[in-house]
Amino acid sequence: MTKLVRGFRDILAPQSDYFTEIESAARRVFKLAGADEIRIPTVELKELFVKSTGDTTDIVQKEMYSFEDAGGRTLALRPEGTPGVVRAYIENNFAANSPVQKLFYIGNMFRAERPQAGRYREFEQIGLEYIGSAAPAADAETILILKDIVTAFGIKNYSVKINSLGCPECRPAYKQELVKYLKKDFDALCDKCKERLERNPLRVLDCKIDGPRIAANAPKQKLCATCVEHFEEVKNLLNGRIDYTVDENLVRGLDYYTRTVFEFQAGDGAQNAIAGGGRYDGLVKSMGGPQVPAVGFAMGVERAIAARGEIAPKTENKIFVISLDKTCNAKAFEIMYSLRVKNICADGGLFDKNLKTQLKAADKAGAAYALLLGPDELAKNIFTLRDFKTGSQKEIKFENIYTEVKSLL
Ligand code: AMP
Repeated sequence: MTKLVRGFRDILAPQSDYFTEIESAARRVFKLAGADEIRIPTVELKELFVKSTGDTTDIVQKEMYSFEDAGGRTLALRPEGTPGVVRAYIENNFAANSPVQKLFYIGNMFRAERPQAGRYREFEQIGLEYIGSAAPAADAETILILKDIVTAFGIKNYSVKINSLGCPECRPAYKQELVKYLKKDFDALCDKCKERLERNPLRVLDCKIDGPRIAANAPKQKLCATCVEHFEEVKNLLNGRIDYTVDENLVRGLDYYTRTVFEFQAGDGAQNAIAGGGRYDGLVKSMGGPQVPAVGFAMGVERAIAARGEIAPKTENKIFVISLDKTCNAKAFEIMYSLRVKNICADGGLFDKNLKTQLKAADKAGAAYALLLGPDELAKNIFTLRDFKTGSQKEIKFENIYTEVKSLL
């Protein structure tokens, strides 16, 4: 038998119900905020991610599923949503249509990471890209939309960290200062941080090994006046609407962030980030588009489900239709199907099985009631309705079936 590929998973019920539940909650929240859904392809040219996600990131350096297609193009399975959305924004000339766009996506992402709890090679992200506004209000709104999704889905214990990474005016000087500081004690750095020092020195600050030690003594980011003003305004707009802490060591993994970054965390395990995001004012232009500012987030659906816990969603009361004899099958089928047409949840149809097996299946399916049809019932134009909870039975005339069933559910 051909088995599942390592690091990939089948998502079975009730897990699959949780996915639907969080997606519906997100869609509701996005619509309330005036965001439109965008569905982008799973595959893009690899260079899209190299140019946007950044060739200093782990995602691009080590984790991309890339391959050559028959036409000799180098393609990649998307490791995140932002590059595809920004490409579509530029290609569809969205900037000319409207100065501001809120675009949301729901889709699977692929990263060839070492499989472990909370880290999968295929996982789902729900994300928002709010493109066109440089205002601090857009940062605050983005964070609050994420909060509303998290709350609507029922996650209670989470914390929010925010920080400002500065802008092209104030960050380079800080980067230089930090590198100078880190080089003084280069040998003490972990292997990963030694590499990061050249590629992405800010990431040393949130390294699980070196981060806490370095962050305590390293020089702190000095934001320019405009960045300070921006960050203060973001905080003012968040105050009273969401609890958060400022974490000066929060840098996030991607290259393109400017100014505000944020992370929603739940629990204290290694994989505790349920969502993250930030502002990326330079990305659209660097990808060949106009100079438009943007801010966005991506939430990991598997992590969000783990943080919420497995609460089975409320299911509708189900009717299970049972036929006791070949002569009754056609009528039983008719009623089962017509209940569905009337928006009543009707399961069953195992008419070639005996009564015991059909009842067992009804139990497994979690049915609240069974409608039984045997030759005696058929002769009298009635069904027997069995209530599984009480064990009681009653007869229902064919012509009263919908009103009777509706009144039960
Ligand atoms: P990122 O795109 O790296 O900023 O990640 C955004 C969110 O996606 C994270 O906060 C996680 O919740 C989730 N995520 C990232 N990588 C994985 C993975 N390999 N498996 C499951 N969830 C992930």
